[in-house]
Amino acid sequence: MRCTVLFSALALFVAACDVSLPTSQAPVEEPKWVQTPEEAARSFTEVVRAVEPVAERECRRRATVANCDFLIAVDPNPRAQPNAFQSVDVQGRPVLTFTASLIGSVHNADEMAFVMGHEAAHHIANHLARQRQSSADAAEVFGGLATLTGGGTSDVEKAKELGAVVGARAYAKEFELEADELGTIITWRAGYDPMVGALFFTRIPDPGDKFLGTHPPNKARMETVARTVRSLGG
Ligand SMILES: [Zn+2]
Repeated sequence: MRCTVLFSALALFVAACDVSLPTSQAPVEEPKWVQTPEEAARSFTEVVRAVEPVAERECRRRATVANCDFLIAVDPNPRAQPNAFQSVDVQGRPVLTFTASLIGSVHNADEMAFVMGHEAAHHIANHLARQRQSSADAAEVFGGLATLTGGGTSDVEKAKELGAVVGARAYAKEFELEADELGTIITWRAGYDPMVGALFFTRIPDPGDKFLGTHPPNKARMETVARTVRSLGG
């Protein structure tokens, strides 16, 4: 079991999701730090130590993905917007990246743990591969529809592109809720309070229940967290 915090920007591959604050809400110049940088760094390190081993154990127990050795990376660019995302490096190792401004903008360790648990959950549930598959399948289906309706080559290509976008988004909200559920379990088992941690979302404007929107309404997310905590005996 290895627990690594790597303070460098990494070459990253496709990200499944992020928890970035929308541009209108996000600080444009200097990110607003709720804690001092020292407090935030100390708290982040403690959260990594507590959450990573739990995420790794949960990952191995579920055995949906081959590599469970999480690398926690910090993007040191102080101007990068508050953001956290999951990706996979060239060796297939799961990487959870946090910008310095996200680390500074969480209100407490429970929020940090919840964001980390949520991102780890995306990997454990194999969302990147499932999203790619859903995108590829829908591209084929849409391409087939264009052929049926007598479309030319360029129509078919356009239909495939549209299908790929629709396919990638079709499960986005479902994946977010799945990541919230498993993220709640990880947060809880790591010794943090997921109900407090999930309050992070209440500061992100509610995306509402948009058709093909990529994020579920905040109410649905909070309900998922509350239900999961009850199932854990909380
Ligand atoms: Zn997510």
